[in-house]
Amino acid sequence: MSDTSLEQRLEQLKQQINQYNHQYYVLDQPTVPDAEYDRLMRELITIETEQPALKSIDSPSQKVGGQALKSFSQVNHQLPMLSLDNVFSADEWQAFSKRITDRLASDKKIQFCAEPKLDGLAVSLRYENGLFVQAATRGDGAVGENITENVRTIKSIPLKLQGDDYPEVLEVRGEVFMPKASFEQLNEQAKKKGDKAFANPRNAAAGSLRQLDSKITAKRNLAFYAYGIGFVGKLDALELDESWLENSHYQRLCQIKALGLPMCPEVKLLKDDSQVDSFYQHILTERGNLSYEIDGTVFKVDDISLQKRLGFVARAPRWATAYKFPAQEELTILDDVEFQVGRTGAITPVARLQPVFVGGVTVSNATLHNQDEIDRLGIKIKDTVIIRRAGDVIPQIVSVVLDKRPENAQDIAFPSECPVCQSAVVRAEGEAVLRCTGGLYCGAQRKEAIKHFSSRKALDIDGLGDKLVEQLVDENLIQTPADLFKLTELDVSTMERMGQKSADNLIKSLSIAKNTTLPKFIYALGIREVGETTATNLAHYFLNFNAIKVADEDTLQKVPDVGAVVAKNIVSFFKQEHNIEVISELESIMSWPDIEVKSADQQPLINQTFVLTGTLTQMGRNEAKAILQTLGAKVSGSVSAKTHYLVAGEKAGSKLTKAHDLGVEVLTEDQLVALFSQHNIVI
Ligand code: NAD
Repeated sequence: MSDTSLEQRLEQLKQQINQYNHQYYVLDQPTVPDAEYDRLMRELITIETEQPALKSIDSPSQKVGGQALKSFSQVNHQLPMLSLDNVFSADEWQAFSKRITDRLASDKKIQFCAEPKLDGLAVSLRYENGLFVQAATRGDGAVGENITENVRTIKSIPLKLQGDDYPEVLEVRGEVFMPKASFEQLNEQAKKKGDKAFANPRNAAAGSLRQLDSKITAKRNLAFYAYGIGFVGKLDALELDESWLENSHYQRLCQIKALGLPMCPEVKLLKDDSQVDSFYQHILTERGNLSYEIDGTVFKVDDISLQKRLGFVARAPRWATAYKFPAQEELTILDDVEFQVGRTGAITPVARLQPVFVGGVTVSNATLHNQDEIDRLGIKIKDTVIIRRAGDVIPQIVSVVLDKRPENAQDIAFPSECPVCQSAVVRAEGEAVLRCTGGLYCGAQRKEAIKHFSSRKALDIDGLGDKLVEQLVDENLIQTPADLFKLTELDVSTMERMGQKSADNLIKSLSIAKNTTLPKFIYALGIREVGETTATNLAHYFLNFNAIKVADEDTLQKVPDVGAVVAKNIVSFFKQEHNIEVISELESIMSWPDIEVKSADQQPLINQTFVLTGTLTQMGRNEAKAILQTLGAKVSGSVSAKTHYLVAGEKAGSKLTKAHDLGVEVLTEDQLVALFSQHNIVI
């Protein structure tokens, strides 16, 4: 680049970063993902490093955060509150580590204090003679906002220090954050009320603290972890007095913890930098299990005398760095929207995206759910969007970057007819979803119905994968689930990638599948909103299939879990001519025993509601559920005050927390196995 174009680019970058800083730090409403911001900042720093003459003191690379809001009184920090530099890869970490070793010119091993990088906002708490007197945000590092009254409502922050061994003035620095569960709850409530949701827990925490009504803060369930100290000394002195403090950062955190301030339990002292990678990997693996959001790890030289020798650059200490995780949010472009037709005719808009690497995988599709979601996002084709993929959660479009909308952006038009069978589409009253009215005339619905019929939880037909079903339908060899049983070895062996042996096996599996149970058969029919539990409940209530077929809506609603909508779906399913034909064929081919009426002795868990969560190692969740139902128990999907027992397997998450909150009895998998064996069921 020529010098003038470099200067122009630098100006552009400064302007763009300043705008993003304002949206992020002052308004708590970022419009682009952190990854995009970090890229711009890196580009700016690279230019400034290569051309030092272009570096100015007003550059965002030289500044911390944003201006304190004038609506708060201001706090001058006695010691500045700085930011952190960051690295994104093992190579960058090595370069950081080498810089430190070179600067210290020592070949002694350096101990590091390793900490998760909490995703909230930095605050400084001031204690005078053991009493909490003031809290301030970081602001621009020199001047912050006085948020004392709001911070007073945070339950984990002590208003009085424990014990009596503390200096006259102690400033504790740390992160205020919103636990993930509280964030989800808050956004759920906001959605219900039609209020704007927060983009992430960081903004929710910042938005809850940087507003003037402490009653609102009190309702937000914020938390705090200490990760450092600020001014320490005498009330009337300006000079730092470190006599009370240890000479190790880690030990200092322990000192603060002993005074009653919370410290993140994941913090560790590393004997040298060879342990950095495993700490980083460990925290990255645990990230999804932590109850709070983090966006990386932080490594700090532990020895305070070494910290002093290393000192600071403009906006960050030289003795620490954030080692950030790969981004979970990225920018990409919405190329097009396609419409998929599901088993029940639901037409789902699917976003075709320019492939982007996010959350560890390349993402090129994401569901847009329905018209309501498209309206909520205000999204158009060719828009730049923020895509999020966290852990194993399916990727989702979070928002649109309106600043980047091109002139040729187009509205997303829903089809007026089914994209597969051209039947009319309808949107039922009160429903967000658009549906194809073609029923099993529609090729897409037919394929999905047969896939569902043969799926693992339904008839579990071994060897009949989705691709094979699609081929068989496309070749017109099958049109309904009943046609499956008419397939011959010859039909099957002519399909792609089907040898004689697999064809033979499939015909055998089909023959085995003819004998099933009543709950599985009902589930396999694929009636809208009749899942496994409802199918089991229907079977146990009516005992035989004929009784279900002729039941009216009122009778159906007496079945546990069946409300007005499901009852209506069931009745209309059994009235459709096409279904009557297929069912009659299936009845002549297949068989299942009626349900035997059990005496109270045989149903010892009657009237008991169980919820299963986490991974069970000795049996599948479905198996556990089926056994519980055989013993008469009801198995529900969510924990409520009416739940009698929660069975918590490995990695149980929010359901376990909720059960504890509600005082619901929790059983381990071993206790469940013991319960089964009391009733003569051996796993
Ligand atoms: P930072 O968040 O990268 O690092 C410094 C901060 O980390 C501290 O102030 C503290 O709040 C926090 N922190 C968490 N755990 C810590 C620990 N254990 N020890 C010490 N500090 C810890 O720096 P920053 O200056 O606050 O913000 C810069 C970052 O913010 C950018 O890298 C970007 O990710 C994000 N940002 C995004 C936008 C946007 O528009 N999306 C705009 C501005 C900033």
